[in-house]
Amino acid sequence: MQIHRRKQTAADKMLYTKKAVAKVLNLAYNQIEFIYVGEESILVGLYNNSIKLDKQSFREEFVKVRKIRSQTIAVRPHPNELNAFVAENQINHHSHTVQLTDRHVFCDCEDYQKQYDNWQQGCCKHGYAVLNHLGYSSLQEYIHREKETRAKHLRLVKSSVGIRIANRA
Ligand SMILES: [Zn+2]
Repeated sequence: MQIHRRKQTAADKMLYTKKAVAKVLNLAYNQIEFIYVGEESILVGLYNNSIKLDKQSFREEFVKVRKIRSQTIAVRPHPNELNAFVAENQINHHSHTVQLTDRHVFCDCEDYQKQYDNWQQGCCKHGYAVLNHLGYSSLQEYIHREKETRAKHLRLVKSSVGIRIANRA
């Protein structure tokens, strides 16, 4: 099996880790011997064979894994912060604060911090749990609907200003 190896970027190092690959392939961490990252695909070495994965589909699968893992997280409104939620893992009872803005679903967990450092964007399993709680199926859908809401609000403000000016005349 041929794969063009290249120098690993910071994003490669955080995305194509043994831990992440094990999750996506549903393997134990110690079944993976090595991971080579190429331009388009990655090669995962197991002790008796190797698996070539397309990078794009790997990323899509990883998003699916995060979404599935978000199902064990309970969400409640943050007691003293606006647009914030407490996301609590029902298995280990770890909880994180998720803060929503119009473009981001921030979380104070390590997974989110890593994604944010690399792409200035991201969504962790806690973020997916909050989005799901609010009726959104993806980060894109949330950002898109927030944008629409803002546009609608702006039109309302503009038209009410127009009415006030008309009444004064
Ligand atoms: Zn998180």
